[in-house]
Amino acid sequence: MRYPKVSECVDVFEALWPPALAESWDSVGLAVGDPDAQVRSILLALDPMDAVIAEAVVLGADLVFNHHPLMLKPVKSVNAATLKGGAVHTLISNDIALFNAHTNADSARGGVSDVLISLLGIEDAEPLVPHAHQATAGSELNTGIGRVGNLETPTAVRDLARTLSDRLPRTTTGVRIAGDPAATVTRVAVCGGAGDSLFDEVRASGAEVYITADLRHHPATEARDTANRHGGNPQLIDVSHWASETVWLDTAARELEAAFTARGLTVALQHSAVNTDPWVERY
Ligand SMILES: [Zn+2]
Repeated sequence: MRYPKVSECVDVFEALWPPALAESWDSVGLAVGDPDAQVRSILLALDPMDAVIAEAVVLGADLVFNHHPLMLKPVKSVNAATLKGGAVHTLISNDIALFNAHTNADSARGGVSDVLISLLGIEDAEPLVPHAHQATAGSELNTGIGRVGNLETPTAVRDLARTLSDRLPRTTTGVRIAGDPAATVTRVAVCGGAGDSLFDEVRASGAEVYITADLRHHPATEARDTANRHGGNPQLIDVSHWASETVWLDTAARELEAAFTARGLTVALQHSAVNTDPWVERY
């Protein structure tokens, strides 16, 4: 067993979460780093916030693996006085590489939405929006954004919300219901992270409840009016964006451990202790 290079880490990451599964608008892959540098330890986190990068420096991590990209929008400079440039400078000056798997990790089997729906005991969920390449690549790939599947027994929406509250990390914003908390549902759609662009697909899937994050006033009220004109479903459950996705990091760490070992590589994997949910108190 030996330590991998950054480029070998990238090979492992991209075998698990192929960049071809990423949405066209996304930014995924190695954002900062020397492919030839050696990696002894990897810090896993959801967001490349300054506190996470500072943690990587203190821990002596060689690579930060994130879900969210540092530079989703193109930057025109990495001037250290800018938000993104400052992060890039800190990373480079401490020999830390930065990699992220975002919508490719949402889309992949065992990805963000698979982990979220499995909290409700649903293990055989289908993609809500199958990946465009799936038809040619074979249906066994079963990749795509969001997931939809059936509960074993019909369950009240408020009981699903309570289960999510119990099984997700505790957050300031909690778990909220729009619609009828007493409605009994079987067919469940989920999208980890912000899923308010998928209401049409949720309705088409026959889902009776939709669990996602970052639901804003107008999309939520319009989705409820649309639902009420068609019998009331889907009900909506809104969870913390951070919580909905951070649960995936445990699965990712297990998959990474196995993948590195299978290649005869050893690397220390460590979860960030920084909670990057921005909301800290509510009154
Ligand atoms: Zn997200």
